[in-house]
Amino acid sequence: MSNADSKQRFFFSDCDIRGEILRLEASLAPILQAREYPLSVQSVLSEAMAAVVLLASTLKFEGRLSLQAQGSGAVTLLLAEATHDGQIRGLAKYDETQFDAADTNDSQPSLTDLLGTEGVMAITIRPLHGKQYQGVVPLDADSLAACIEHYFSQSEQLKTRIWLTGGNGRAAGLLLQQLPNQVSTPDENADIWQNIETLANTLTMEELLDLPNEEVLHRLFHEQTVQLADAQSLRFGCTCSRDKVSRTLASLGAAELQSILDELGEASINCDFCGQTEVFDAVDLAQIIHELSDQ
Ligand SMILES: [Zn+2]
Repeated sequence: MSNADSKQRFFFSDCDIRGEILRLEASLAPILQAREYPLSVQSVLSEAMAAVVLLASTLKFEGRLSLQAQGSGAVTLLLAEATHDGQIRGLAKYDETQFDAADTNDSQPSLTDLLGTEGVMAITIRPLHGKQYQGVVPLDADSLAACIEHYFSQSEQLKTRIWLTGGNGRAAGLLLQQLPNQVSTPDENADIWQNIETLANTLTMEELLDLPNEEVLHRLFHEQTVQLADAQSLRFGCTCSRDKVSRTLASLGAAELQSILDELGEASINCDFCGQTEVFDAVDLAQIIHELSDQ
């Protein structure tokens, strides 16, 4: 058992540090299968999915958190979303013509190899209630994990480290975060943090993918007392619906819809996230136009 499709929080009893560990597999399949992604795009998208779950786990909120990386390399967009209750969805856009060269490498290309050196990453928090928040950092590191650590250093006072891995239809992630000083003094916490970080750096990405959480934590931190909280399950979930598509169509206005009706006879809208197609035939379109003209 390797705790697939769940995340689990853990705490160190003797210092002010917490962590989160997660693995994705079945929940990742609909995301990776929605398009015929090159292998290196699959890997970086898988990492982005693990990252967005870790980011969401650091917040107390109800809503949706998204990570959007835009670049001008072979990959032009990475979009990953997670909700507070463990639903994930995501997609990548890439330029096939640029792609062959980037994908023939034996090893995984770096983040800047894939997205170019001018990219930016936006982290957006959309609470169900309350104000939206967005933080933006440049994609100026070789790995997604390093860019996200940069984001944390900008937006949070709490030291945060992240390890991410993705490939072969699976992804895994580990996060360590310093908490405000409660159990130990600032000096003690700083020493322990350095020690814990050094230990975590010895973890191989194979171990992170393959071993049960208890074993990963025992291998790394057996000199510490670590408490594991209950695991929370993670699953694929898309928020698209016929209702939403209908509202999107209505927002085009009666005149535009009438010209779609006249020219095409129907509107067929494909969801980029889950591949679901909603077809609005002539009768459906006429109904929306009728409702718009009634308003
Ligand atoms: Zn969808």
